[in-house]
Amino acid sequence: MTTANDNFDFAALAAEIRRDFPDLAPRVYFVDTFKKQYIHGDARADAHYERYMAVNPSLRNCLVNQIGKYSAQKNSMVFPGPNNDFFVLLYTDDDGISLLGKTTSLKQGLTFVIDHEIGHVVTGYGQAGKLSRTLHECTADAYAAMRQIQRFDHGLNAVKSLQLRRAQRLVSLEGTRHAEHFTSFVLDKIIESVDKLPLRQMTPQQTAHLADRFAVVHTPNDQVVKNVMEAFAPFQKMLAQQPGDDTPYRVLAQTVLDTKEWEVFRWGAPVLRGYIRGALSDMQNGDQLIKVNEKPLWGAGWDSVAKRLKEREFEFNRDQILFGLDLPAPKPAQAQPPMRFRHIP
Ligand SMILES: [Zn+2]
Repeated sequence: MTTANDNFDFAALAAEIRRDFPDLAPRVYFVDTFKKQYIHGDARADAHYERYMAVNPSLRNCLVNQIGKYSAQKNSMVFPGPNNDFFVLLYTDDDGISLLGKTTSLKQGLTFVIDHEIGHVVTGYGQAGKLSRTLHECTADAYAAMRQIQRFDHGLNAVKSLQLRRAQRLVSLEGTRHAEHFTSFVLDKIIESVDKLPLRQMTPQQTAHLADRFAVVHTPNDQVVKNVMEAFAPFQKMLAQQPGDDTPYRVLAQTVLDTKEWEVFRWGAPVLRGYIRGALSDMQNGDQLIKVNEKPLWGAGWDSVAKRLKEREFEFNRDQILFGLDLPAPKPAQAQPPMRFRHIP
């Protein structure tokens, strides 16, 4: 994942975020969980942080625990402090979880992660609330996705990859934690609208407002997410057993090719195609590493699955919202009754 000229500079990115959001600067603390290091840069924030560490042992212990946990999981997070302030923990080694695809640089991947965590803080719907289990994650991803497009030449490709990998997790992993991060519907709308949005001219604050608008309109309700997750339970169970052959993917293919549910097909189809092509990566599920096939699935059976998938996708794209509906079969055209001419006397 590391490429030449890859020069992620955490302190420089933290300084940029502080400039972009001056109100936030004194109350956001950046910590590198890999190097176990606080990132200095704002005199007021640095003083607050040092004071917390000196006089608030419960907060200090909580921070140490979170750093240990997230460092072990090679993951990142943001959590609120006691005074409307925030700790952003970023795992900076090159073996962290990457959701942007295999060819994205470490710098681009880490920039996405930090934008996502900052997205939780600078948007209106970025923090967990009662409205929805996924809205806050959809908002953070919407912000980080738009920042990718603003920051990087191939940012849109990274967003497409993110969209697929979020769906991969919901479809493939056991447990409910992935439901929260199922942001693919909202990313879909951003991808669809990207040509119409003046993203390059927008400030980060404006981008945060736009992320709120995308997320609040397009976040699916909890029931939809639950339905998708549950439809794939047999596949998730089989994949967790890690048989090392193609049996889990056969179960997945059956679900995708048989479903009549719009959302199940909408997200199952691209994930199935990703597995058939061997284009998806291993996933961390809590403490378990779930390995997936690295090479394309091949053989007569898989050729036939690929063919049926293509046909169903065509049908899906044509019918969209009517997809899978049990509509009455069209009536056969009736022969017209012969015309009768009335004799007019
Ligand atoms: Zn998040």
